[in-house]
Amino acid sequence: MRYLLLSDVHSNLEALEECTALAQGKYDQVLCLGDLVGYGPDPNPVIERVRAMATVIIRGNHDRACSGLIDAAEFNPLARLATQWTRDQLTAEHIGFLRSLPPGPVTVQGVQIVHGSLLDEDEYLLGPGQALPELRNLATPAVFFGHTHYQGGFMLTGNGRFQSVRCSSKQDGRTLVLTLEEGTRYLINPGSVGQPRDGDWRAAFAIFDQEKNHVEYYRTPYKLPEVQQKMRKAALPEPLIRRLEFGR
Ligand code: ZN
Repeated sequence: MRYLLLSDVHSNLEALEECTALAQGKYDQVLCLGDLVGYGPDPNPVIERVRAMATVIIRGNHDRACSGLIDAAEFNPLARLATQWTRDQLTAEHIGFLRSLPPGPVTVQGVQIVHGSLLDEDEYLLGPGQALPELRNLATPAVFFGHTHYQGGFMLTGNGRFQSVRCSSKQDGRTLVLTLEEGTRYLINPGSVGQPRDGDWRAAFAIFDQEKNHVEYYRTPYKLPEVQQKMRKAALPEPLIRRLEFGR
């Protein structure tokens, strides 16, 4: 089985479309690691699109906030504004759908997915401080996570060596192929489709090939000016519009 891993789409339809176009023919199933909505200008079309193609979708913190499961008081003021705007746009049906999404971890045929971490769906796995305790407790050789909007991840070898997975290629398309070694444990982040924060504005995703036992990381440019134009028209906060250019 080949899994297309999509995370943190954040209502960015143009980015989602480029990712699925590039992934076309390279996967069998789609797993979504949460945060379909929040920040971007197309919450309803993004939900429709992902819902139609994904086998499993787990919820992210923005999915909970935008559907009113939690209030957005803990979000920064800009994220809060975008949450309120998204709530006003969402159809009642889509609000119900977001509310029905399961929290991670969810296991699909030996593949485990979470939004934040195994223990806490809101935890940010940013470095060894958070990743090491998780890696020591993995029940499966690899867990796929999102939430940080950083493409890459972490690994712990059989002899206890911790390493970060870095995707540094500036080429469009496949940026890294990571072969999963026997005895090593992995936390894999496909990166964010709709609002990358790792300094690269291009949309990110990954494909896990279970047979070949490797993860392919991808980056693709998308029609950023169109997204920004829609956001301005919707009067979404300017810093949220600009950050997409910088991938921050
Ligand atoms: Zn997110």
